[in-house]
Amino acid sequence: MTVAPVRAARSSAELIRAEEPVLAHNYHPLPVVVARAEGTWVEDVEGRRYLDMLAGYSALNFGHRHPALIEAAHRQLDQLTLTSRAFHNDRLAQFAESLAELTGLDMVLPMNTGAEAVESGIKVARKWAYDVKGVAPDQATIVVAADNFHGRTTTIVSFSTDETARAGFGPFTPGFRVVPYNDLAALEAAIDETTAAVLIEPIQGEAGVVIPDDGYLRGVRELTRRAGCLFIADEIQSGLGRTGRTLAVEHEAVVPDVLLLGKALGGGIVPVSAVVARREVLQVLRPGEHGSTFGGNPLAAAVGSAVVELLETGEFQRRAEELGMELRVGLTALVGKGVQGFRARGLWAGVDIDPAIGTGREISERLMREGVLVKDTHGSTIRLAPPLTITTDELGQALGTLEKVLTEGA
Ligand SMILES: *Cc1c(COP(=O)(O)O)cnc(C)c1O
Repeated sequence: MTVAPVRAARSSAELIRAEEPVLAHNYHPLPVVVARAEGTWVEDVEGRRYLDMLAGYSALNFGHRHPALIEAAHRQLDQLTLTSRAFHNDRLAQFAESLAELTGLDMVLPMNTGAEAVESGIKVARKWAYDVKGVAPDQATIVVAADNFHGRTTTIVSFSTDETARAGFGPFTPGFRVVPYNDLAALEAAIDETTAAVLIEPIQGEAGVVIPDDGYLRGVRELTRRAGCLFIADEIQSGLGRTGRTLAVEHEAVVPDVLLLGKALGGGIVPVSAVVARREVLQVLRPGEHGSTFGGNPLAAAVGSAVVELLETGEFQRRAEELGMELRVGLTALVGKGVQGFRARGLWAGVDIDPAIGTGREISERLMREGVLVKDTHGSTIRLAPPLTITTDELGQALGTLEKVLTEGA
Protein backbone atom coordinates (compact mmCIF):
# COMPACT_ATOMS: atom_id res chain seq x y z
CA MET A 1 0.00 0.00 0.00
CA THR A 2 1.34 3.43 -0.86
CA VAL A 3 0.75 6.32 1.43
CA ALA A 4 0.49 9.80 -0.07
CA PRO A 5 3.30 12.00 1.21
CA VAL A 6 2.13 14.48 3.79
CA ARG A 7 3.12 18.00 2.88
CA ALA A 8 3.65 20.45 5.64
CA ALA A 9 1.39 23.47 5.41
CA ARG A 10 3.27 26.09 3.47
CA SER A 11 3.38 29.84 3.97
CA SER A 12 2.35 32.35 1.31
CA ALA A 13 5.99 33.07 0.52
CA GLU A 14 6.78 29.36 0.19
CA LEU A 15 3.78 28.76 -2.07
CA ILE A 16 4.74 31.66 -4.32
CA ARG A 17 8.29 30.29 -4.56
CA ALA A 18 6.96 26.78 -5.25
CA GLU A 19 4.96 27.99 -8.26
CA GLU A 20 7.97 29.48 -10.00
CA PRO A 21 9.56 26.31 -11.48
CA VAL A 22 6.33 24.42 -12.22
CA LEU A 23 3.81 26.99 -13.47
CA ALA A 24 3.92 28.75 -16.82
CA HIS A 25 4.81 32.42 -16.32
CA ASN A 26 1.91 33.84 -18.33
CA TYR A 27 0.70 35.93 -15.37
CA HIS A 28 2.31 38.39 -12.96
CA PRO A 29 -0.01 38.09 -9.94
CA LEU A 30 0.12 40.27 -6.87
CA PRO A 31 2.01 38.44 -4.08
CA VAL A 32 -1.08 37.33 -2.14
CA VAL A 33 -2.08 33.66 -1.75
CA VAL A 34 -5.82 33.35 -1.20
CA ALA A 35 -7.06 30.38 0.77
CA ARG A 36 -10.66 31.23 1.70
CA ALA A 37 -13.33 33.73 0.70
CA GLU A 38 -16.82 34.84 1.49
CA GLY A 39 -18.85 37.66 0.01
CA THR A 40 -16.63 40.69 -0.56
CA TRP A 41 -13.71 39.37 1.49
CA VAL A 42 -10.84 36.98 0.82
CA GLU A 43 -8.39 35.60 3.34
CA ASP A 44 -4.81 34.54 2.69
CA VAL A 45 -2.87 31.55 3.99
CA GLU A 46 -1.79 33.45 7.12
CA GLY A 47 -5.36 34.58 7.86
CA ARG A 48 -4.97 38.19 6.67
CA ARG A 49 -8.22 39.56 5.24
CA TYR A 50 -8.57 41.64 2.08
CA LEU A 51 -11.46 43.49 0.48
CA ASP A 52 -11.79 42.14 -3.07
CA MET A 53 -12.18 45.13 -5.37
CA LEU A 54 -11.48 43.12 -8.55
CA ALA A 55 -14.04 40.31 -8.24
CA GLY A 56 -12.29 37.99 -10.66
CA TYR A 57 -12.50 40.53 -13.49
CA SER A 58 -16.30 40.48 -12.94
CA ALA A 59 -16.58 36.69 -12.75
CA LEU A 60 -17.57 37.24 -9.10
CA ASN A 61 -20.33 39.83 -9.56
CA PHE A 62 -22.38 38.14 -6.83
CA GLY A 63 -19.44 37.91 -4.44
CA HIS A 64 -17.55 34.85 -3.30
CA ARG A 65 -19.72 31.82 -2.58
CA HIS A 66 -23.10 33.50 -2.82
CA PRO A 67 -25.39 31.22 -0.75
CA ALA A 68 -28.00 30.74 -3.50
CA LEU A 69 -25.33 29.81 -6.03
CA ILE A 70 -23.47 27.48 -3.67
CA GLU A 71 -26.75 25.78 -2.83
CA ALA A 72 -27.63 25.30 -6.50
CA ALA A 73 -24.18 23.82 -7.13
CA HIS A 74 -24.36 21.49 -4.12
CA ARG A 75 -27.82 20.28 -5.10
CA GLN A 76 -26.66 19.57 -8.64
CA LEU A 77 -23.45 17.83 -7.49
CA ASP A 78 -25.67 15.33 -5.69
CA GLN A 79 -27.76 14.62 -8.81
CA LEU A 80 -25.81 14.77 -12.06
CA THR A 81 -22.67 16.56 -13.20
CA LEU A 82 -21.91 15.68 -16.82
CA THR A 83 -23.62 13.97 -19.72
CA SER A 84 -21.88 15.50 -22.78
CA ARG A 85 -24.24 16.72 -25.47
CA ALA A 86 -24.50 13.17 -26.82
CA PHE A 87 -27.51 12.98 -24.51
CA HIS A 88 -29.97 15.56 -23.22
CA ASN A 89 -29.80 16.62 -19.58
CA ASP A 90 -32.70 17.80 -17.47
CA ARG A 91 -31.18 21.20 -16.61
CA LEU A 92 -30.28 22.65 -19.99
CA ALA A 93 -33.74 23.60 -21.31
CA GLN A 94 -34.48 25.78 -18.31
CA PHE A 95 -31.08 27.48 -18.46
CA ALA A 96 -31.54 28.38 -22.13
CA GLU A 97 -35.16 29.49 -21.67
CA SER A 98 -34.34 31.77 -18.74
CA LEU A 99 -31.21 33.24 -20.37
CA ALA A 100 -33.06 33.98 -23.61
CA GLU A 101 -35.84 35.62 -21.66
CA LEU A 102 -33.43 37.69 -19.52
CA THR A 103 -31.64 39.04 -22.61
CA GLY A 104 -34.62 39.45 -24.93
CA LEU A 105 -33.07 37.11 -27.52
CA ASP A 106 -34.18 33.74 -28.89
CA MET A 107 -31.55 31.00 -28.79
CA VAL A 108 -28.54 29.97 -26.72
CA LEU A 109 -25.31 28.19 -27.62
CA PRO A 110 -23.73 27.14 -24.32
CA MET A 111 -19.93 27.09 -24.06
CA ASN A 112 -17.47 27.33 -21.16
CA THR A 113 -14.93 30.14 -21.31
CA GLY A 114 -15.32 33.64 -22.66
CA ALA A 115 -12.85 33.05 -25.46
CA GLU A 116 -14.92 30.05 -26.57
CA ALA A 117 -18.04 32.21 -26.72
CA VAL A 118 -16.14 34.74 -28.86
CA GLU A 119 -14.78 31.99 -31.15
CA SER A 120 -18.28 30.53 -31.42
CA GLY A 121 -19.77 33.94 -32.21
CA ILE A 122 -17.21 34.42 -35.00
CA LYS A 123 -18.00 31.00 -36.49
CA VAL A 124 -21.74 31.60 -36.32
CA ALA A 125 -21.41 35.05 -37.91
CA ARG A 126 -19.34 33.64 -40.77
CA LYS A 127 -21.80 30.79 -41.35
CA TRP A 128 -24.68 33.27 -41.29
CA ALA A 129 -22.86 35.45 -43.84
CA TYR A 130 -22.54 32.53 -46.28
CA ASP A 131 -25.90 30.83 -45.69
CA VAL A 132 -28.20 33.83 -45.19
CA LYS A 133 -26.48 36.98 -46.45
CA GLY A 134 -24.90 35.28 -49.48
CA VAL A 135 -21.28 36.38 -49.07
CA ALA A 136 -18.93 34.59 -51.53
CA PRO A 137 -17.19 31.52 -50.02
CA ASP A 138 -14.31 32.33 -47.66
CA GLN A 139 -14.69 36.09 -48.18
CA ALA A 140 -16.50 37.05 -44.96
CA THR A 141 -14.99 39.85 -42.90
CA ILE A 142 -15.61 40.94 -39.32
CA VAL A 143 -15.00 44.51 -38.20
CA VAL A 144 -13.53 44.97 -34.72
CA ALA A 145 -12.28 47.91 -32.63
CA ALA A 146 -8.73 48.92 -31.75
CA ASP A 147 -7.67 48.22 -28.15
CA ASN A 148 -10.20 45.39 -27.96
CA PHE A 149 -9.93 42.47 -25.58
CA HIS A 150 -11.86 39.36 -26.57
CA GLY A 151 -9.66 36.55 -25.24
CA ARG A 152 -6.46 34.64 -25.95
CA THR A 153 -6.99 32.05 -28.68
CA THR A 154 -5.02 32.18 -31.93
CA THR A 155 -7.94 33.61 -33.91
CA ILE A 156 -8.80 36.18 -31.24
CA VAL A 157 -5.24 37.49 -30.88
CA SER A 158 -5.20 37.70 -34.68
CA PHE A 159 -7.30 40.88 -34.40
CA SER A 160 -5.84 42.23 -31.16
CA THR A 161 -3.93 45.52 -31.36
CA ASP A 162 -1.87 44.67 -28.25
CA GLU A 163 1.60 43.66 -29.44
CA THR A 164 2.30 41.66 -26.25
CA ALA A 165 -0.74 39.51 -26.97
CA ARG A 166 0.33 38.88 -30.60
CA ALA A 167 4.10 38.89 -30.90
CA GLY A 168 5.41 35.39 -31.50
CA PHE A 169 2.03 33.76 -32.06
CA GLY A 170 1.56 34.12 -35.82
CA PRO A 171 0.56 33.16 -38.45
CA PHE A 172 -2.79 34.78 -37.77
CA THR A 173 -6.36 34.16 -38.89
CA PRO A 174 -7.38 36.50 -41.74
CA GLY A 175 -10.78 38.11 -42.21
CA PHE A 176 -10.74 40.92 -39.64
CA ARG A 177 -10.68 44.70 -40.07
CA VAL A 178 -9.70 46.94 -37.17
CA VAL A 179 -11.14 50.46 -36.79
CA PRO A 180 -10.76 52.98 -33.95
CA TYR A 181 -13.25 52.51 -31.09
CA ASN A 182 -15.96 55.12 -30.67
CA ASP A 183 -15.62 56.24 -34.32
CA LEU A 184 -18.79 55.65 -36.34
CA ALA A 185 -17.41 57.18 -39.54
CA ALA A 186 -14.45 54.76 -39.53
CA LEU A 187 -16.80 51.89 -38.81
CA GLU A 188 -19.09 52.83 -41.68
CA ALA A 189 -16.13 53.07 -44.05
CA ALA A 190 -14.91 49.58 -43.06
CA ILE A 191 -18.24 47.84 -43.66
CA ASP A 192 -18.89 46.48 -47.14
CA GLU A 193 -20.77 43.60 -48.80
CA THR A 194 -18.33 41.05 -47.32
CA THR A 195 -19.04 42.15 -43.73
CA ALA A 196 -20.58 39.40 -41.64
CA ALA A 197 -20.52 41.29 -38.36
CA VAL A 198 -19.25 44.14 -36.24
CA LEU A 199 -17.82 42.78 -32.99
CA ILE A 200 -17.29 45.24 -30.14
CA GLU A 201 -17.31 45.60 -26.37
CA PRO A 202 -20.01 48.09 -25.29
CA ILE A 203 -17.43 49.27 -22.72
CA GLN A 204 -13.80 48.27 -23.20
CA GLY A 205 -12.83 46.74 -19.85
CA GLU A 206 -9.24 45.62 -20.34
CA ALA A 207 -8.45 48.86 -22.18
CA GLY A 208 -9.16 50.66 -18.88
CA VAL A 209 -12.98 50.85 -18.70
CA VAL A 210 -13.24 52.96 -21.84
CA ILE A 211 -16.83 54.17 -22.28
CA PRO A 212 -17.86 55.30 -25.76
CA ASP A 213 -19.76 58.55 -26.37
CA ASP A 214 -23.48 58.45 -25.85
CA GLY A 215 -25.00 57.45 -29.18
CA TYR A 216 -22.15 55.20 -30.31
CA LEU A 217 -23.92 51.93 -29.56
CA ARG A 218 -27.12 53.21 -31.18
CA GLY A 219 -25.00 54.22 -34.15
CA VAL A 220 -23.43 50.76 -34.40
CA ARG A 221 -26.92 49.25 -34.25
CA GLU A 222 -28.17 51.56 -37.04
CA LEU A 223 -25.11 51.05 -39.27
CA THR A 224 -25.20 47.28 -38.99
CA ARG A 225 -28.95 47.18 -39.61
CA ARG A 226 -28.62 49.31 -42.74
CA ALA A 227 -25.62 47.34 -44.02
CA GLY A 228 -27.32 44.01 -43.39
CA CYS A 229 -24.60 42.66 -41.09
CA LEU A 230 -24.71 41.43 -37.51
CA PHE A 231 -23.96 43.44 -34.38
CA ILE A 232 -22.12 41.20 -31.92
CA ALA A 233 -21.80 42.68 -28.42
CA ASP A 234 -19.10 41.13 -26.23
CA GLU A 235 -20.62 41.62 -22.77
CA ILE A 236 -18.45 38.99 -21.10
CA GLN A 237 -17.13 41.64 -18.69
CA SER A 238 -19.68 44.46 -19.02
CA GLY A 239 -22.78 42.28 -18.74
CA LEU A 240 -24.82 40.69 -15.97
CA GLY A 241 -25.32 43.65 -13.67
CA ARG A 242 -21.89 45.30 -13.61
CA THR A 243 -22.93 48.64 -15.13
CA GLY A 244 -26.24 49.03 -13.31
CA ARG A 245 -28.21 47.24 -16.04
CA THR A 246 -28.42 43.58 -16.93
CA LEU A 247 -26.51 44.46 -20.12
CA ALA A 248 -24.38 47.53 -20.87
CA VAL A 249 -26.15 47.95 -24.25
CA GLU A 250 -29.34 48.71 -22.30
CA HIS A 251 -27.91 52.14 -21.42
CA GLU A 252 -28.64 53.02 -25.05
CA ALA A 253 -31.72 50.80 -25.38
CA VAL A 254 -29.96 48.73 -28.02
CA VAL A 255 -30.47 45.02 -28.73
CA PRO A 256 -27.60 43.35 -30.60
CA ASP A 257 -28.12 40.38 -32.94
CA VAL A 258 -25.58 38.33 -31.01
CA LEU A 259 -24.62 38.65 -27.36
CA LEU A 260 -21.53 37.04 -25.85
CA LEU A 261 -21.69 36.26 -22.13
CA GLY A 262 -19.27 34.58 -19.72
CA LYS A 263 -17.47 35.39 -16.47
CA ALA A 264 -20.34 36.13 -13.99
CA LEU A 265 -22.58 33.63 -15.82
CA GLY A 266 -20.70 30.90 -13.95
CA GLY A 267 -21.38 32.55 -10.57
CA GLY A 268 -17.68 32.38 -9.67
CA ILE A 269 -18.03 28.60 -9.39
CA VAL A 270 -17.66 27.02 -12.81
CA PRO A 271 -16.74 28.37 -16.24
CA VAL A 272 -19.99 29.08 -18.11
CA SER A 273 -20.27 31.13 -21.28
CA ALA A 274 -22.86 31.49 -23.99
CA VAL A 275 -23.63 32.90 -27.39
CA VAL A 276 -27.19 34.26 -27.19
CA ALA A 277 -28.73 35.38 -30.48
CA ARG A 278 -31.71 35.88 -32.69
CA ARG A 279 -33.11 32.65 -34.11
CA GLU A 280 -32.21 33.63 -37.68
CA VAL A 281 -28.55 33.68 -36.64
CA LEU A 282 -28.05 30.70 -34.34
CA GLN A 283 -30.23 28.40 -36.44
CA VAL A 284 -27.46 28.28 -39.08
CA LEU A 285 -25.62 25.66 -37.00
CA ARG A 286 -26.36 22.03 -37.90
CA PRO A 287 -25.32 18.89 -35.98
CA GLY A 288 -21.58 18.30 -36.12
CA GLU A 289 -20.65 21.84 -37.15
CA HIS A 290 -19.80 23.05 -33.65
CA GLY A 291 -19.71 21.75 -30.10
CA SER A 292 -18.05 21.37 -26.74
CA THR A 293 -17.81 18.35 -24.43
CA PHE A 294 -18.48 20.46 -21.34
CA GLY A 295 -20.70 23.15 -22.91
CA GLY A 296 -24.14 23.10 -21.31
CA ASN A 297 -23.23 20.48 -18.72
CA PRO A 298 -25.80 20.04 -15.93
CA LEU A 299 -23.65 21.63 -13.23
CA ALA A 300 -22.98 24.67 -15.42
CA ALA A 301 -26.66 24.86 -16.38
CA ALA A 302 -27.77 24.66 -12.75
CA VAL A 303 -25.36 27.40 -11.64
CA GLY A 304 -26.13 29.49 -14.74
CA SER A 305 -29.87 29.21 -14.06
CA ALA A 306 -29.32 30.31 -10.47
CA VAL A 307 -27.32 33.32 -11.75
CA VAL A 308 -30.18 34.27 -14.08
CA GLU A 309 -32.60 33.96 -11.15
CA LEU A 310 -30.51 36.39 -9.10
CA LEU A 311 -30.50 38.85 -11.99
CA GLU A 312 -34.26 38.52 -12.51
CA THR A 313 -34.80 40.19 -9.14
CA GLY A 314 -33.14 43.40 -10.41
CA GLU A 315 -31.49 43.78 -7.01
CA PHE A 316 -27.90 43.54 -8.26
CA GLN A 317 -28.44 45.95 -11.15
CA ARG A 318 -29.96 48.41 -8.65
CA ARG A 319 -27.06 48.01 -6.22
CA ALA A 320 -24.54 48.55 -9.02
CA GLU A 321 -26.30 51.74 -10.04
CA GLU A 322 -26.71 53.14 -6.50
CA LEU A 323 -23.30 52.18 -5.16
CA GLY A 324 -21.84 53.25 -8.48
CA MET A 325 -22.93 56.80 -7.69
CA GLU A 326 -21.07 56.60 -4.37
CA LEU A 327 -18.03 55.26 -6.19
CA ARG A 328 -18.10 58.22 -8.59
CA VAL A 329 -18.49 60.72 -5.73
CA GLY A 330 -15.54 59.12 -3.90
CA LEU A 331 -13.33 59.10 -6.97
CA THR A 332 -14.25 62.67 -7.90
CA ALA A 333 -12.97 63.75 -4.49
CA LEU A 334 -9.60 62.12 -5.29
CA VAL A 335 -9.10 63.87 -8.62
CA GLY A 336 -6.07 66.09 -8.24
CA LYS A 337 -5.01 64.16 -5.13
CA GLY A 338 -3.21 61.37 -6.93
CA VAL A 339 -6.00 60.53 -9.34
CA GLN A 340 -5.65 62.21 -12.73
CA GLY A 341 -9.04 61.15 -13.97
CA PHE A 342 -11.39 58.21 -14.11
CA ARG A 343 -14.13 56.60 -16.18
CA ALA A 344 -16.97 54.83 -14.42
CA ARG A 345 -20.30 53.21 -15.09
CA GLY A 346 -22.17 51.31 -12.41
CA LEU A 347 -19.74 49.57 -10.04
CA TRP A 348 -16.94 49.66 -12.56
CA ALA A 349 -14.18 52.24 -12.86
CA GLY A 350 -10.87 52.74 -14.63
CA VAL A 351 -8.80 55.07 -12.48
CA ASP A 352 -5.78 56.86 -13.95
CA ILE A 353 -3.14 57.34 -11.25
CA ASP A 354 -0.74 60.26 -11.42
CA PRO A 355 2.48 58.59 -12.67
CA ALA A 356 4.47 60.78 -10.26
CA ILE A 357 2.92 58.78 -7.40
CA GLY A 358 3.47 55.34 -8.83
CA THR A 359 2.65 52.87 -11.56
CA GLY A 360 -0.63 50.99 -11.46
CA ARG A 361 1.32 47.98 -10.28
CA GLU A 362 2.94 49.89 -7.40
CA ILE A 363 -0.40 51.33 -6.30
CA SER A 364 -1.95 47.82 -6.48
CA GLU A 365 0.85 46.45 -4.26
CA ARG A 366 0.48 49.25 -1.74
CA LEU A 367 -3.30 48.73 -1.63
CA MET A 368 -2.70 45.00 -1.11
CA ARG A 369 -0.49 45.73 1.91
CA GLU A 370 -3.37 47.85 3.26
CA GLY A 371 -5.89 45.04 2.74
CA VAL A 372 -7.52 46.01 -0.56
CA LEU A 373 -7.11 43.95 -3.74
CA VAL A 374 -7.19 45.59 -7.17
CA LYS A 375 -5.22 45.04 -10.36
CA ASP A 376 -3.62 47.46 -12.78
CA THR A 377 -4.64 47.36 -16.43
CA HIS A 378 -2.47 49.63 -18.54
CA GLY A 379 0.57 51.41 -17.11
CA SER A 380 -0.92 53.75 -14.55
CA THR A 381 -4.57 52.68 -14.69
CA ILE A 382 -6.20 50.54 -12.01
CA ARG A 383 -9.60 48.96 -12.39
CA LEU A 384 -12.18 48.90 -9.60
CA ALA A 385 -14.89 46.25 -10.04
CA PRO A 386 -15.99 45.00 -6.61
CA PRO A 387 -18.65 42.35 -6.10
CA LEU A 388 -22.10 43.92 -6.58
CA THR A 389 -22.86 42.75 -3.04
CA ILE A 390 -20.40 45.25 -1.54
CA THR A 391 -21.86 47.50 1.18
CA THR A 392 -21.63 51.27 1.43
CA ASP A 393 -19.26 50.89 4.39
CA GLU A 394 -16.97 48.51 2.54
CA LEU A 395 -16.89 50.77 -0.51
CA GLY A 396 -16.05 53.70 1.75
CA GLN A 397 -13.30 51.65 3.34
CA ALA A 398 -11.79 50.84 -0.08
CA LEU A 399 -11.91 54.49 -1.17
CA GLY A 400 -10.42 55.60 2.15
CA THR A 401 -7.57 53.14 1.71
CA LEU A 402 -7.00 54.38 -1.85
CA GLU A 403 -6.84 57.95 -0.54
CA LYS A 404 -4.35 56.92 2.16
CA VAL A 405 -2.13 55.09 -0.32
CA LEU A 406 -2.18 58.01 -2.78
CA THR A 407 -1.42 60.61 -0.12
CA GLU A 408 1.37 58.60 1.44
CA GLY A 409 2.91 58.16 -1.98
CA ALA A 410 2.88 61.90 -2.69
C1 LIG B 1 -12.49 38.03 -20.03
C2 LIG B 1 -13.00 38.42 -21.36
C3 LIG B 1 -12.99 37.52 -22.45
C4 LIG B 1 -12.37 36.16 -22.36
O1 LIG B 1 -12.91 35.35 -21.37
P1 LIG B 1 -12.08 34.07 -20.83
O2 LIG B 1 -13.07 33.37 -19.97
O3 LIG B 1 -10.91 34.60 -20.07
O4 LIG B 1 -11.68 33.29 -22.02
C5 LIG B 1 -13.55 37.95 -23.62
N1 LIG B 1 -14.08 39.18 -23.77
C6 LIG B 1 -14.10 40.07 -22.75
C7 LIG B 1 -14.72 41.41 -22.96
C8 LIG B 1 -13.54 39.72 -21.53
O5 LIG B 1 -13.51 40.62 -20.54
